[in-house]
Amino acid sequence: MTARILIVDDVPANTRLLEAKLSAEYYQVNSARDGFEALEMARRWQPDLILLDVMMPGMDGYECCRKLKEDPTTLHIPVVMVTALGEPGERLRGLEAGADDFLTKPVEYDTLMARVRSLVRLKRLLDEWRARGDTARALGLSAERVTIPSVSGARALIVDDWDLGAQSIQDALTRDGIVSGRARDGAEALALTAAMPFDLIVISLSLVEQDPLLLISQLRASDTTHETPLLLVAEPEERERTLRGFELGASDWLTLPIDDNELRARARNQIRRKFYQDRLRNDLGTALELALTDPLTGLYNQRYLRRHLSGLMDGGQGRELAVLMIDVDHFKSVNDRFGHAAGDKALRLIADTLRGETRVFDSLARYGGEEFVVVMPGAGFDDASAAGERLRSAVEKAVFDVDAATRAPLTVSIGVACTSGAVVTPEALLHAADLALYEAKRGGRNRVEYAPALQPT
Ligand SMILES: [Mg+2]
Repeated sequence: MTARILIVDDVPANTRLLEAKLSAEYYQVNSARDGFEALEMARRWQPDLILLDVMMPGMDGYECCRKLKEDPTTLHIPVVMVTALGEPGERLRGLEAGADDFLTKPVEYDTLMARVRSLVRLKRLLDEWRARGDTARALGLSAERVTIPSVSGARALIVDDWDLGAQSIQDALTRDGIVSGRARDGAEALALTAAMPFDLIVISLSLVEQDPLLLISQLRASDTTHETPLLLVAEPEERERTLRGFELGASDWLTLPIDDNELRARARNQIRRKFYQDRLRNDLGTALELALTDPLTGLYNQRYLRRHLSGLMDGGQGRELAVLMIDVDHFKSVNDRFGHAAGDKALRLIADTLRGETRVFDSLARYGGEEFVVVMPGAGFDDASAAGERLRSAVEKAVFDVDAATRAPLTVSIGVACTSGAVVTPEALLHAADLALYEAKRGGRNRVEYAPALQPT
C-alpha cells in the first residue's frame, strides 16, 4: 500500500535520512523546511501522513500540529511528532496538540514503519468515508461541517486480568468523562462487545488466559468491532509482539508503567477519530436513506429504481428481466372519503403486502403517488405473470381497516412488461409496462395485463 508522506524538519540531513528509508518502501515523499511551508504543502498536496519535527525556528511542531488539526482541509491527516527529546512532558504536549503519535530521534525503523502502516490504513478508511460524504454534500443532502467532539460520555472497555492495572486505567479515563467497563479475558471481551458498542478497547498484552493477539484479530474480524480503536498496553520488552499486534490492526500502544497523561491523550485521540468516522458514516447513511427511499412506505423511490434498472440493463447484453407497474384502483376516492391519513395507511398496507409477495432479489419501489414498480431480474413471461397474479390477489385479500368501524376494499391494476432477452432501454421497458397498466385499467381494474413483445431498440 503506497502513500504520500510529508516530512517536516528544519535540518536537511534528518529529512534526507527519513526520505531515503521511506522511499525504499515505495512511499511517495515530500519535505518541508518549516511549519509555514508544512501547512501550505499539507493543504495543497494532501499527504496521507505527516512526520513533524518538534523543534523548528519560527513555528514549532506543536503550533503547526494545532493549526493542521484546526483546518477542515487537513484535520483528518494523521500527524506523527518527531523529537530529539524523550521526555514524557514533551510527548504529552504533542498529543495534546492533536498529534496521533510520537517518535523519538533517532527514529527506530521498525517502529516507524509499523506506525506508518497503521496510520495510513486508518487514513484510507477515513478517505473513503469522506469521499462518500462529499458526494452526499454535492447532492445537497448534508451540509454540516465536521467539528472535533468532546470525548466525555464515550465508552471504553479495558481487557486486563491484572486488577490493579485495570483499575488505574479506568481511573485515568474517568478524569476525561470516559465511562469504562472491564473484561478479564478474551471471551468476556467478545461477549461484552457483542452486547454493546464501545468507542475504545484497551487490551493488555500480558493476558495469561488467552493470547491477546488472537483477541485482536477476532475483534478486527467482527462486524461490531471492525473499526473500533484498539489501544495496546505492553511491557517494554514485548516490542515484537506489540508490532505484531499493530500488524493485526491495533490502533496504538502504550508501554508500562503507564503515564496517566499519555494514556489519556492517546485515548482521547483515538476516540475523537472514531467519533469523526462515525459522524461521516451517519451523514452518509442519512443522506442515502433520504436520497433513495420513500419515507411513507420505506420502499425504494423512483430515483433509486431508475438507477437500479439501468444498472441491471447496462451493457446491452439482452438480459431477461420483467417490470410490473402497479397502480391502486380508485385511490382518489379513498382519500376523498376517509381523508389523507387513511390514504397513507392504505399505501403502507399495500407496500407491506407487495413486499411479502416479492422474491428477495426483486426490487420494489414506490414509483409515484399511488404507483408501485417491481423489477424482477431473470424473470421471463411465465414468472412475471405468476407474480402479477399473486400480487393482485394478495392486495385484494388484504384487510384495510380505515378505523375500528370501517373496512374498505382495496385492489390494484398491474401492467407487466418483459424484455424476453431483447436489448431494450429501461425507458422503453417502463413505458411498455405503463401501457399494459392502462389496458388493465380500461379492462375494468383489479386485473393484470401484458405488454406485447418489445422490439429491440
Ligand atoms: Mg528541528
